[in-house]
Amino acid sequence: MYDVNKIRKDFPILSRTVNDKPLVYLDNGASAQKPQVVIDAVTKAYAEEYSNVHRGLHTLSNIATDNYEAVRGKIQSFLGAEHPEEIIFNSGTTEGINMVSYGWGIPNLKAGDEIILSVMEHHANIVPWHFLRERQGVVLKWVETDADGALDAQAVIDTMTDKTKLVAITQMSNVLGTVVDVKTICDAARQRGIATLVDGSQSSVHMPVNVQEIGCDFFAITGHKLYGPSSSGAIYVRKERGDEMQPFMGGGDMIKTVERDIVTYNSMPHKLEAGTPGIVQMIGLGAAIDYMQDIGMENIAQHEASLRDYAVKKLSKYNWLDIQGQTNTKGAIFSFTIQGAGHPHDISTILDQRGIAVRAGHHCAQPLMQHLGITASARASFAMYNQLDEIDKLADALEFCHELLA
Ligand SMILES: *Cc1c(COP(=O)(O)O)cnc(C)c1O
Repeated sequence: MYDVNKIRKDFPILSRTVNDKPLVYLDNGASAQKPQVVIDAVTKAYAEEYSNVHRGLHTLSNIATDNYEAVRGKIQSFLGAEHPEEIIFNSGTTEGINMVSYGWGIPNLKAGDEIILSVMEHHANIVPWHFLRERQGVVLKWVETDADGALDAQAVIDTMTDKTKLVAITQMSNVLGTVVDVKTICDAARQRGIATLVDGSQSSVHMPVNVQEIGCDFFAITGHKLYGPSSSGAIYVRKERGDEMQPFMGGGDMIKTVERDIVTYNSMPHKLEAGTPGIVQMIGLGAAIDYMQDIGMENIAQHEASLRDYAVKKLSKYNWLDIQGQTNTKGAIFSFTIQGAGHPHDISTILDQRGIAVRAGHHCAQPLMQHLGITASARASFAMYNQLDEIDKLADALEFCHELLA
């Protein structure tokens, strides 16, 4: 049995009030709250077991290195990767995708080569490719979503040409909640020798994922959305693609030898991990992944599906509420505007008075906003600890917004 009350007790912040109201935290798409086990792991790592990793021979350095490196195996199993060295640690999806752009894109792509993106990508999966467009003449090709916010895998496949070198696509939209059939896309790309990058920033939080089943070459996750510390994360790099990559950043740890005129690089994954990493952040992320896996990704997905269904039922009654993203397999992410209510920032401010945290803006997805013909929306995004009565509170507050603003 999924005991949401028990889960809520694991997250200390959920018992606080905001503006004298119990907190209703619906900004999980931007960042999730942290369970006590993560806070404890971070505290312990600093209070009892802290040192730099890898280079030391003393006791604390060995403990810190063991704790830190153990997280690689946890992420490997969380993502279903074949080898631990396919997991590259980083500060999150933004760094991960930039690493692929610099480390794989620059040495392997040339003018006229094509990268396929969907129109609903997060800026983190757009701007690093714009760098290659600006600097190397790479061509960006865009695939549209339909009126419900669905992305047709066949439309992506139909966009592939002899010049396509990479398909970079999200598995779950942070705005629409749309879940994409990335397996079909990656299978087709692989048959054509095209590399694939899946942005798993949202999907990895809300459903079981398996990179070998998906068949992608790169899969990016970001720790702060996975109930872990900010500035933690990882990217899966399929072994063969790792061999095609040049180091993204140079510095300590990523080298074998450095001489005046020669440098040789460390083996994977260290070749792609320069400098002192987020030691404690990664240890905290390891604790977060253990916590999620104890609850079970299937169970989390099921609970969130019931939240989604309840929210759909509740919110679709309002004919003045425009919800962006209407597919029935979507994640529990609701972006919306209220007809005639002006800027969505006002919605967020009014909801905050009731202790309800939602985001308003372009959600780092301006091409999608342009596609939808809006400049901004408000977004309520759910997590494993949200419950049905919070949807009731959201609905009441939206009725209030509608009366006040429209
Ligand atoms: C949050 C998010 C990102 C960026 O993650 P960072 O943690 O800011 O690096 C990228 N893609 C999607 C779909 C996201 O939701």
